[in-house]
Amino acid sequence: MARIVQKFGGTSVGDIERIKRVALRIKEWRDQGNELVIVVSARAGVTNELIAKAKAITPHPDDREMDMLLAIGEQETIALTAMALHAIGVPAVSRTGQQAGIVTDFFHTKAKIKRFDSSPLNADLAAGKVVIVAGFQGVNEEGETTTLGRGGSDLTAIAVAHVVKADICQIYTDVDGVYTADPRAVPNASKIQEISYDEMLELASSGSKVMQSRSVEFAHKYGVDFEVRSSFNNNPGTIVKAETKSMEDVVVRGVAVDKDQAKIFISEIPDKPGTAAKVFRALADAAIIVDMIVQNMGRDGVANLTFTVPKTETHKAQTLVAKVLAEVGGGKVEVFENTAKLSIVGVGMKTHSGVAATLFQSLAAQGINIDLISTSEIKISVTVDAARVDDAQRAVHTSFGLDKA
Ligand code: ADP
Ligand code: ASP
Ligand code: MG
Repeated sequence: MARIVQKFGGTSVGDIERIKRVALRIKEWRDQGNELVIVVSARAGVTNELIAKAKAITPHPDDREMDMLLAIGEQETIALTAMALHAIGVPAVSRTGQQAGIVTDFFHTKAKIKRFDSSPLNADLAAGKVVIVAGFQGVNEEGETTTLGRGGSDLTAIAVAHVVKADICQIYTDVDGVYTADPRAVPNASKIQEISYDEMLELASSGSKVMQSRSVEFAHKYGVDFEVRSSFNNNPGTIVKAETKSMEDVVVRGVAVDKDQAKIFISEIPDKPGTAAKVFRALADAAIIVDMIVQNMGRDGVANLTFTVPKTETHKAQTLVAKVLAEVGGGKVEVFENTAKLSIVGVGMKTHSGVAATLFQSLAAQGINIDLISTSEIKISVTVDAARVDDAQRAVHTSFGLDKA
């Protein structure tokens, strides 16, 4: 007997037939004597539809009201999944994030988990029930509903696995594992058997939407191993776990593309100590995540500062930067949205040289111009014209020998 956490993503619970199929799968695991906590997402497309409705009313809806709205999607699927289990004779109970014991901070639409009281879930398990937890949501200390950022059901699943001390954590999705690139964009991508937390985190935070990056961070912090696998077949998935020595044999584990970043360009900002600090403090206080940062050498007392932020934050970021520029007495802010980031990731980069050269050559051969560049120990990222980024990732994937045999 094992204690198992299973998360089913939006496509896996996309309609009534699929919810019934998920229930049958859950029953099979339970019939083998396992204890199960299930985390479900909203049906595929529902969260996007809710966002579209809000935007049809106002371009910048209030964050608290957004969370009230977005939490609906998961509340539908937990109840339907519980009913589907009842219908086949499995005792089950649904729980919202709040009822499951998830307490978050106050950052609506991207809240972080602060505390997670495992007693409600443990009590359900002790009573012999399958528990169905709503992914993506929690409650703050004031009792307000919060959500955990897009893709946040992954985080709910990993956090549940940690607090209930699960033996196994499985993330069921519409692909049968983590691939060397998004298989939708790179048909030659191959399935990865094992990947380290660090690599998975870099891929996720660089745009591979197969796992929410915060969930991987959480898994790394608490040592929660997990498997990404398909809800439509029984193929073995991809194991995500701590780095092993042999992982370094592979130079580049995968390629990721992020089309959701916008570039913010500040020209002629006063070149004096404290200016950059003020800009990034203002963004940090608004919990805006800044990714690549490039500052040109100052000349005649002014400099240029470029950075990227999620496209969803451009309006907020631009407003905040404009305020800071007024304070520091100079500079002009512009936003460019037709940009995309391509990243290559691998722990093997620590011990291999020439990786950047191969990347740049491969892009040059396609006539693709590189805009910003940033590197870390296990990642190199570049921004390129959004219109060329899919050509870019296919070429880079081939150059690093990642195409499937
Ligand atoms: P879920 O609704 O189950 O959470 P997501 O749509 O969030 O599913 O994530 C699965 C999708 O992630 C796949 O359909 C795939 O197109 C995309 N994806 C992006 N990068 C990768 C990758 N490297 N490996 C596998 N899938 C990827
Ligand atoms: N339904 C939420 C979203 O679409 C959370 C998730 O699916 O993980 O972002
Ligand atoms: Mg997802």
